[in-house]
Amino acid sequence: MVHLFDSMQRKKQPFKPINPDRVTMYLCGPTVYGDIHIGNARPIVVFDVLSRLLRHEFPEVIYVRNITDIDDKIIQRAAELQISTQELVRETTARFHADCAALGALSVDHEPRATEYLDEMIAMIEILIARDHAYVSGRHVLFASATYDDYGGLSGRSLDDQVVGARVEVADYKRDAHDFVLWKPAENAQLGWDSPWGRGRPGWHIECSAMSKALLGQDFDIHGGGYDLVFPHHENERAQNCCAYPGSGFAHTWLHNGLVMVEGEKMSKSLGNFITLRAALDQYPGEALRFLFLGSHYRKPLDYQRAKMQQTLRTLQRMYCRLSEAGLDPQETDEIPLDADFLTALRNDMNTPLALSRLSSLARQNPRQMRCCGQFLGLFTRSISEVCPVQQSTMDDPAIVAKVTARENARKTKDFATADLLRAELLAQGIEIIDTPDGARWRKISAHLLG
Ligand SMILES: [Zn+2]
Repeated sequence: MVHLFDSMQRKKQPFKPINPDRVTMYLCGPTVYGDIHIGNARPIVVFDVLSRLLRHEFPEVIYVRNITDIDDKIIQRAAELQISTQELVRETTARFHADCAALGALSVDHEPRATEYLDEMIAMIEILIARDHAYVSGRHVLFASATYDDYGGLSGRSLDDQVVGARVEVADYKRDAHDFVLWKPAENAQLGWDSPWGRGRPGWHIECSAMSKALLGQDFDIHGGGYDLVFPHHENERAQNCCAYPGSGFAHTWLHNGLVMVEGEKMSKSLGNFITLRAALDQYPGEALRFLFLGSHYRKPLDYQRAKMQQTLRTLQRMYCRLSEAGLDPQETDEIPLDADFLTALRNDMNTPLALSRLSSLARQNPRQMRCCGQFLGLFTRSISEVCPVQQSTMDDPAIVAKVTARENARKTKDFATADLLRAELLAQGIEIIDTPDGARWRKISAHLLG
């Protein structure tokens, strides 16, 4: 049984899908105006692992992650670059897909784009107006937050809390400071769509509401995203769906991942420490970033540190070298059941740090099982030669070189008994021979790897 921490109930509970034959989950995807930063990369990995776990536990999983391709930031950025919004969206989406692949994330089942769901958004806004949860003000349509009794139920913020100390300037088209935009006018030549309220664009929150409803229905199992989306984005999505379709519970479980820090500090524009995933991938393999992300529990903050990355690279290298010693190709698959302790850790609210420490134990005890579990987490995507150093035979100790050469000669004369004996002698000395098309190479295996 999988247990997950529901952000709304604020507790860990058994995960019971609405329909155990078909688990449904929705993750808020990127607004495609520029490359994602490492903070946005974390949910890609977290929810990829969750989808892998759920696919292991249930016959079918429908995983939806949207692309927000309408937004003021897209319009602004396209104008700066003097290209069309379509061109910016196309290029940025392609870069996002390449980023996801570099992180080892499997493709999602549906990737709806906001521009393809305008009719559904407009229909939902019309329902909200008809039910007196939304009002038209000039050329805007706003959601009246006070009309939803449980507004704040997800984030734990009551309307009163939000007023105290708030110094937000209230736009003149709003009746109340808490009301939020469902539809706004598009000026002159700006990107826009025709609607009953004139040419305009949808608000961000209604996009996700309409897309999840269209693809997963009024009630679905899991809604995920970064912790920074709890308020206002997810609170508002929930208000829209529950008010448009009374009796609907919307998402039954809410999952949020913690934020990413850089060297102990919050990433922020003012500190100038935003790191794009691209910049991180220039320095480290995607697999190592994925390993780092899984090394912290998803609900906790994650600190991206140079020292931790170095440690991660070494840990991964040890695992690859262990596979090499066991004669196992990292990418070959085995039909063996997953290690029980490993699976128990993942089923317990995705305790990936514990699952990774189990992986380290398996490296010593059972490399075949380690490979199986590592692959389950999306690891071991590279080849041994990419990760483990291979030394040229000519570069070191003459006594060893002599033995390697003797073994090569024995092989040439098909004296395999002698060749095998020499290989075993070398291995006992901590030397592993690797036969390549260019001849034999060898490398030292450190003592802790032999043990
Ligand atoms: Zn969303």
